[in-house]
Amino acid sequence: MIADLRPTASPKDSLLARYMQRFQEIRNENAAGAAITNALRLKRADALIKGVFENSFDAIAIFRREGGIEAANSGLAHLFGYTPETITSCSFYDLIVEGLDGVRNAVNQTGAKLGFLDGQGRRKDGTRFPVEIAVGEVQLGATPSYLAIVRDITERRAQEERVRHQALHDALTDLPNRVLFNDRLDLALASAERSGEPFAVVIIDLDRFKEVNDTLGHHAGDVVLRVVSERLQSAVRKCDTVARLGGDEFAVLLPALGSEEQALELTTRLVRIAERPFDYCGISIDIGASAGIAVYPIHAQTKDKLLQCADVAMYAAKEEQNRVSIYHASKDRNSIRNLTLAGDLRSAIEQGKIFLAYQPKIDLASGALLGVEALARWKHDDHGCVAPTEFIAQAERNGLIKQLTLLTVALGLGQLSQWRRSHRNLTVAINLSARSLHDAALPDILLRAIEEWRIEPHWLTLEITESAFMVDPEKSMAVVERLAAAGMRLAIDDFGTGYSSLSYLSRLPVNELKIDKSFVLQMLDRDRDAKIVQSTIDLAHNLGLKVVAEGVENEQIVTRLREIGCDVAQGYYFGKPMAAPQIDQLQSRLGESRIIRPRALAARH
Ligand code: C2E
Ligand code: CA
Ligand code: CA
Repeated sequence: MIADLRPTASPKDSLLARYMQRFQEIRNENAAGAAITNALRLKRADALIKGVFENSFDAIAIFRREGGIEAANSGLAHLFGYTPETITSCSFYDLIVEGLDGVRNAVNQTGAKLGFLDGQGRRKDGTRFPVEIAVGEVQLGATPSYLAIVRDITERRAQEERVRHQALHDALTDLPNRVLFNDRLDLALASAERSGEPFAVVIIDLDRFKEVNDTLGHHAGDVVLRVVSERLQSAVRKCDTVARLGGDEFAVLLPALGSEEQALELTTRLVRIAERPFDYCGISIDIGASAGIAVYPIHAQTKDKLLQCADVAMYAAKEEQNRVSIYHASKDRNSIRNLTLAGDLRSAIEQGKIFLAYQPKIDLASGALLGVEALARWKHDDHGCVAPTEFIAQAERNGLIKQLTLLTVALGLGQLSQWRRSHRNLTVAINLSARSLHDAALPDILLRAIEEWRIEPHWLTLEITESAFMVDPEKSMAVVERLAAAGMRLAIDDFGTGYSSLSYLSRLPVNELKIDKSFVLQMLDRDRDAKIVQSTIDLAHNLGLKVVAEGVENEQIVTRLREIGCDVAQGYYFGKPMAAPQIDQLQSRLGESRIIRPRALAARH
């Protein structure tokens, strides 16, 4: 603070005056110093700003209201493909394609602070790229200018897109996941409500997938899922969506459908393509698939109900083994029943509620009773007698098949032993599920049981299906060879229904071939069936095998089978599966066959 130092006329005046002058001088010197310091400071700040401006990673422009660029850093020139000299002849507005309205809004607001907006930039060569732009007013002269900081966000967008994709797709197969499928289903519903056009929801579930995982490992399982995904994806129309819902379950959305039949046609094609066997490390993997279809608005009108109906139809397809099935209300009742049965099966096995019924096998040449096939039955407390087609598949799915097989073996051998003790010459055939043949412990278990029951092995026939050899041929072959070497008889069941492979057939140590009943039932009316039966008999005989025809329901078929050289017949004509005492009566009536000697297997190998 400067005090009031006005001069007075005292002797001290001259001193004071000098003092004042010096004081003034010092003051002036200081002012000049401050000004110099200030100027220097400003210059440094200016240089600093210039440095920041030039070296910034961001692209910076200062432009006028009408768009002309006053100053731009080399970042801006570089980003938009110009040189630092040519960029200033551009209008800032020509650089921005999308988001220009936001820029203009900011420019039209007085004193606009820096605000951010997303848009699209256009390079000199016309290519576009996503940008984030911050625009605000700067007061450099009399008229305001505008500062724009432009940032290329291509990488950030790609990262966001990756995260979004991951959230909506399955990591293993890259198919849409359940969330995205539900979303597409919502859209399809909204559009169908407007147009009234039907669409279908299809659930596809793989058969025998667990076997592949269990026997060949998870890597093989992953490969199966990827192969099936690619196949489904390549087989659908552009407008369809294929998704993986989880595990071995897929969903397909089929919009723009003309009819229910079209949904059936498209789905059948999909399943057929998905099912083609493929090679995995030299092993042919033969995976099956079952599909259920629900059509909007016929079966359901809401998302959840459509999915539920497709699920019910899929389970019906699995149970009925017809691969593709369209929803029907009666299937709902079945599915409730299936759920109840699945829950009760374990205790039924433990409590001995499973028993065997025996169906006669007749020697066509002599008319004598050769033996029986043991077929499992379940006496359920509420549902009565349950057929094996309902519970065998469930036992396989729920890991109960081994327990069930052990039970049927014990019951079958117990009965066989009783017949042998009462000197009845009857063979007993027991069905082995495909999964049992992958169990390396099975031969020992069977051998021990035969020993305990004191049974000669050739009285026991084991019925196996070809499907066992499709999944893990080596393991199945090893099991089968041990069983055959121990003297048990082997029959190929349901011949003609699987991918019958002649190369397996000639290598397998089997004794008997059972022609599936689907060919026998109508062989007199259907020429194609008759030809299949005839050629199977010829093939079997050429390989030295006995032929059994299943599903023989009337005398005319018996006569024809005898004419064309079939060896053995089994079917309702001779008797439905029955209790053991009824078999005794039947044998007494029909007479007993000659003892069946095991075929000399060594001769074939
Ligand atoms: P499968 O081995 O092909 O058994 C023959 C099936 O055809 C039996 O059905 C039998 O009742 C039926 N059948 C016999 N004759 C005729 C006929 O003249 N006409 C018609 N329409 N059908 C006839 P079932 O007992 O319901 O058994 C169905 C399937 O369940 C069996 O087919 C077999 O694959 C499986 N199965 C049965 N018992 C067992 C078992 O103990 N273990 C295993 N793993 N599977 C079993
Ligand atoms: Ca059988
Ligand atoms: Ca059969």
